[in-house]
Amino acid sequence: MDAIETVRAVATTAMGLIVGSFLNVVIWRLPRGENLARPRSACPGCGTMIAWYDNVPVVSWLLLRARCRQCKTRIRVRYPLVELLTGGLFLLAFLAYRGDLVTTGIVAVFLAALVAISFIDLDYRIIPDAISKPGIVVFLAAAPFSALHAVEALAWTRTWVPGGKPALNALLDAGIGAAVGALLILLIRAIGTWILKKEAMGLGDVKLLALIGAVVGPLQAVYALVVACFGGALIGGLLFVVGKRRPMPCAMTVRGSGGDGQGLEATFERVKVLQGDQGDFLVRGAPAASAGTAVRVDLVLPATRILEDEDAQLDLRGHIARVEGEGVARTWVIEITEHTERDADLVSFFAQSYRYIPFGPFLALGGVLGALLPSGVHWFLTAGYPALARSLFGS
Ligand SMILES: [Zn+2]
Repeated sequence: MDAIETVRAVATTAMGLIVGSFLNVVIWRLPRGENLARPRSACPGCGTMIAWYDNVPVVSWLLLRARCRQCKTRIRVRYPLVELLTGGLFLLAFLAYRGDLVTTGIVAVFLAALVAISFIDLDYRIIPDAISKPGIVVFLAAAPFSALHAVEALAWTRTWVPGGKPALNALLDAGIGAAVGALLILLIRAIGTWILKKEAMGLGDVKLLALIGAVVGPLQAVYALVVACFGGALIGGLLFVVGKRRPMPCAMTVRGSGGDGQGLEATFERVKVLQGDQGDFLVRGAPAASAGTAVRVDLVLPATRILEDEDAQLDLRGHIARVEGEGVARTWVIEITEHTERDADLVSFFAQSYRYIPFGPFLALGGVLGALLPSGVHWFLTAGYPALARSLFGS
């Protein structure tokens, strides 16, 4: 790589770090329905606006030693990680399509969209339409300019009109890619719903694989699904062994009167369900209270997670069984003693659904590989993997 190429590579990586910093804002604000452009980012601990010199990707996080300058609230390691991930992906896009500025740009936008979608899906189990729907349109329109629809090793899958204009074939490749992606997930969904007797996969995944197909074409869309199934099975198996349960996002208000007769009110965005069927909760960051306090719990479960049309409003009664820790780490263990049959079912289903691993990040991984190593994925699945399997398990 000569000097000019090196400068270009560094500039592309730096742009990726800055885009990653913006993606952190998108990941936080988009699912909460907040404006992406305004107001400027503020510390969630003390509300102080973050100065530009404290908002330099990765560097500021290191200089501030992962704490807010004012109130010393910890800044999650995820922020610099998302920035580094995006910077790294931009560099890989540059290296994969060196000299082709347009394709590098298309792939970089695609990778940025996948990063945002993956983290939102991890946090909320939703794939935002606000990214996937316009994404499909944008990438269909960009197809004639993308070298991805003209990868030579895959030319046999991409000539839809023999002798036709390359732009027409690229457009058809993107359109058929989006259709194949959507149909594949719809098919899995239908089979899963038939077997499990309940909705097996979200419509968000349908739009995500359509988006991926529009960028990488139909063959790579199939590969992305294969990669996602391998990855999902591997991580799902690991999580099953570890048995890890994550807190669930919801809106929860607890009201009661404290041991000293003072009114008690606290709201939470995430709670952990201790026993799904009985609906006992563990909430972190709770105010001081004494054990035994009787409480009313208003719980709103988001519609997308319980697969109903509307958010479910639950009115539960119980008491604070235990108080653990101090300050921001203070935790209430709330034991629910009164609830209707339906409410218990909803809480139990919600808690279980939150143990399911989201499929979006795995589809995204398949999309990343398809965009950065189009012929590599093809080689692995048609030649590399069969050879590996033969050498591992004999002929
Ligand atoms: Zn602060």
